[in-house]
Amino acid sequence: MFEALSSKLNGVFDRLRRRGALSEADVSEALREVRVALLEADVALPVVKDLVAKVRERAVGQEVIRSVSPAQQVVKIVNDAIVEALGGGGETPAPSGLDLSAPSPVPILMVGLQGSGKTTTSGKIALRLKNRDRKKVLLASLDVQRPAAQLQLAQLAQQAGVASLPIVPGQTPLEIAARAMDVGRRELYDVVVLDTAGRLAIDEALMGEVAAVKAQARPHETLLVVDAMTGQDAVNTARAFQERVGVTGIVMTRVDGDARGGAALSMRQITGAPIKLLGAGEKQDALEDFHPDRIAGRILGMGDIVSLVERAAETIDRDEAEKLAAKMQKGKFDLEDYASQLKQIGKMGSLSGILGMLPGVGRMKQQIEDANLDNTILKRHAAIIGSMTPKERRTPDIIKASRKRRIAAGAGTTVQEVNRLLKQFDDMSAMMKRMNKMGQKGMMRGGLA
Ligand code: GDP
Repeated sequence: MFEALSSKLNGVFDRLRRRGALSEADVSEALREVRVALLEADVALPVVKDLVAKVRERAVGQEVIRSVSPAQQVVKIVNDAIVEALGGGGETPAPSGLDLSAPSPVPILMVGLQGSGKTTTSGKIALRLKNRDRKKVLLASLDVQRPAAQLQLAQLAQQAGVASLPIVPGQTPLEIAARAMDVGRRELYDVVVLDTAGRLAIDEALMGEVAAVKAQARPHETLLVVDAMTGQDAVNTARAFQERVGVTGIVMTRVDGDARGGAALSMRQITGAPIKLLGAGEKQDALEDFHPDRIAGRILGMGDIVSLVERAAETIDRDEAEKLAAKMQKGKFDLEDYASQLKQIGKMGSLSGILGMLPGVGRMKQQIEDANLDNTILKRHAAIIGSMTPKERRTPDIIKASRKRRIAAGAGTTVQEVNRLLKQFDDMSAMMKRMNKMGQKGMMRGGLA
């Protein structure tokens, strides 16, 4: 999400930085470009106007032009304005994730148009509540419109390892909702997720049904699911649901396919409802919390280190990582370790996804994708190391021409590739040695103080 906007804005700021001292005209020109970039990203016009006006006012107020690093100041001001547009900043930070502070079973109502990803998201939420929050979750489909809808949810529940309400043919949505809450109370569930029926477009029948279910079930969270790819339509849908039904939060799906991100930037201001979660893929674990400050960082190429570290903490095998770190400290890092490191990186998802979260690297992402580097490199390197003997992995220095030819043939690649890997490994080892030295010096200083 936001790739296009991110690269445009970074272009604007790079030009500003190259100028050093800024005139008022430079800032005005930059703001004009920011405005165009936001509009191209499909951000709603009133939101764009507001954001640019805010930035202009603050840039003047802070005497950016006379400051030491004017371009950096402008970036900071734009960053803050984006955080605010996304619903963050200010005195009450935007809530992220779900609010479950209510007596059990906490009802969560899922609403939205057909195809928005409502049922998929219900499954994702159930899985997350079960795994992360240790909650006992019951999933119930109130969709009597689509014949297979209730079965689809039951299947998703099974995949997630949570319960689903037994299907009773012929019941109305209100009856199913009542039965779900009843089962939820009797069988001591913590959370009951009620997945309502969608329609192809907003119509009174849909809104009436959803409003009736809401009035009866009195959900603690009413989550509207919208498809980010539909841009401004998603925002209009959200406004309609907000006015007619009232929602407590928005889940934006398909952000994995949405390069523009306009809907996310417009949503808060136009609908007043906070985005709480993002759906970033079809798999059940592809659900992310929505943090305005981190997202702004991603847009402005300042990286999203916090999310990266969280993702790492979830996927990386701690024991293995500690063993590796100990080896690194002793300067005993070999190709065996490199291979296991590659495996860990592979587990964290696509390389370009990881790089997108690193500061300053966001812009490289497209080049990496274009060069088709991504995970194929990881796999190739793993294959090359796989066709080495254990001795070669532990003492790569012995790998000379004939061994290289054998290894390349074994991995189905060229000697150049083997050379490239060995060079990369050498560079890494050298860097680790330098880091170790620095660390030791630091420790000595600490000891003397
Ligand atoms: P519903 O009609 O609103 O219940 O929509 P579904 O949950 O059946 O989802 C419709 C399609 O969108 C399915 O093929 C899902 O796999 C897909 N989908 C849902 N969420 C996401 C997402 O975050 N990213 C992607 N790429 N696909 C998604």
